[in-house]
Amino acid sequence: MSAEKMKAAVLNEPGDLEIRDVDVPEPGPGEVLVRVRACGVCGSDLEIRDHGWEGAEFPFIMGHEWTGEVADLGPETYHFEVGDRVASEPHDGCGMCRNCKVGKYTACLNYGDFSKGHQHHGFTVDGGYAHYCVIPESNLHELPDNMSYQEGTLLTTAACSLYAVERADVSAGDFVAVLGPGAIGLLAAQIANYRGASEVLVSGTREPRLEAARELGADYTVNIHEEDPVERVTELTDGVGPDVVIEAAGVHQAQQQAVEMVRRGGNVGLVGNPGEGVAELDTQWIVSGDLDVVGVKAEGMNSTQRVTRLMSKREFETEPLLTHEYDLADLPEAMSTFENREEGAIKVVVNI
Ligand SMILES: [Zn+2]
Ligand SMILES: [Zn+2]
Repeated sequence: MSAEKMKAAVLNEPGDLEIRDVDVPEPGPGEVLVRVRACGVCGSDLEIRDHGWEGAEFPFIMGHEWTGEVADLGPETYHFEVGDRVASEPHDGCGMCRNCKVGKYTACLNYGDFSKGHQHHGFTVDGGYAHYCVIPESNLHELPDNMSYQEGTLLTTAACSLYAVERADVSAGDFVAVLGPGAIGLLAAQIANYRGASEVLVSGTREPRLEAARELGADYTVNIHEEDPVERVTELTDGVGPDVVIEAAGVHQAQQQAVEMVRRGGNVGLVGNPGEGVAELDTQWIVSGDLDVVGVKAEGMNSTQRVTRLMSKREFETEPLLTHEYDLADLPEAMSTFENREEGAIKVVVNI
């Protein structure tokens, strides 16, 4: 008997994304089959589509910010039942290395090595731009009843923002600057406020996104095409600089601005992924400023589970971020809407 078929967005090789019929996968031990309902388009999708990813096993199905409902259970699964609403987490560390053992599974030392048990769903192995996805049950979180499948696609992003705010150690009363008003930045600004920041500034280039930042509680916004963000923030802080800067644009120039503007002795969290190219980071600023500069790798330290609770309690807003919806068949268009920031696009969701 031939296997049942489903539609999926398969990356045959970098630059060759194809929506076609593939077999519905079967869950093995410890795995769950999920009927995917929605999947968010992310900046890293564009990188994967065009250049592939470290450790990717081609061909594979893309998509890593998805929600759905449990359709079938493999043997040796204990935590979910058929029909449960779930949200996925893409990183599945090896569980054995030093980092995994202390909860830093997004920085797994066996990253990209499938033979050592590492899987990054939608990056190196099959993900959620498909009607069904098989995933270890340990990668699933219960989706709260008051959260739609579409809203739930933001959990992975919000988990990155929460981890960034924690790694950069935002304290009550801090002046926080967030560089880059994409979904990660806009969520980080709100979570910084939740953690007690006295003032939050968001900088960027696109007016609709800066408007969204103000709507979501930012005290100040800076359009970097019109003003120098370092000068503006220095002025606003009486020449001292913000206590914490979170770089969420993934731009080398913004990384340099972050270390230039932050208060001496302050913290900088780098969560944006600048991809190719060499940073022009003047390290003298870091040394002379006695700065704490930290990298933030995705949704580390189980931040997904914790941010799910915050989102479920409406501790911050997500609705203004969900700007566009498409069907799976229109994934290429969904990606280009996101890539070109058409019609003020912030988060683009693909319904499946
Ligand atoms: Zn993502
Ligand atoms: Zn590991």
